[in-house]
Amino acid sequence: MGKYTLPDLPYAYDALEPHIDAETMEVHHRKHHQTYIDKLNAAMEGESLSEKTVEELLEDYANLPERIQKPVRNHGGGHANHSMFWKILTPNPEDTEPRGPLGSAVEMQYGSFSQLKEVFKQTAVNHFGSGWAWIVIAAGERKTKDQKKLLVLSLPNQDSPVMGGHTPILGLDLWEHAYYLKYQNRRPDYIDAFWNVVNWKQVEDNYGNVEDVAIKTGMFKGRVLER
Ligand code: MN
Repeated sequence: MGKYTLPDLPYAYDALEPHIDAETMEVHHRKHHQTYIDKLNAAMEGESLSEKTVEELLEDYANLPERIQKPVRNHGGGHANHSMFWKILTPNPEDTEPRGPLGSAVEMQYGSFSQLKEVFKQTAVNHFGSGWAWIVIAAGERKTKDQKKLLVLSLPNQDSPVMGGHTPILGLDLWEHAYYLKYQNRRPDYIDAFWNVVNWKQVEDNYGNVEDVAIKTGMFKGRVLER
């Protein structure tokens, strides 16, 4: 068995019904996510860099040996993206929109949460083929609590925003395996349903924890963080 392992889902496979169906959740977690992990482990076997977390590998993607770049991008990205996806979903959302510092940032940048949702939906609907839609803290904008600039973007395949220096706080899987059983070609309906099961508490934490993560992983390499 390799180093990278499948995280448990924090809820049952049928917990997100009717918004995301049980069969999709089970195949998605048990088969799709597991396959990314198996292929990542196979590629990293015997590599000294296998000591690193998948996020560390993705952050340093440009400097990786060429032989592991593609597997880290595809399977490492797949592992990181899905691990986050399970965590930002919940059958029992405490809230229907972001509050606290994240809520303020949304209001300041987008005017309102419904406008952010509209930008996100357009981005996700217009993304061609497989990939993910993201809300990230934009690269280089993480210095202080007041300067965490949000950005909505989509990326192809399993490309991680981390590869571009962004900090993902919310992601939506746009691969057909994530919605086809229930929604077939109706990606817009899947996107609308997604908002019913977003764990805003976790997304707010992802937004608020950026400085801690940055310090822990040495991303700022000696730069003093303002508080
Ligand atoms: Mn997926």
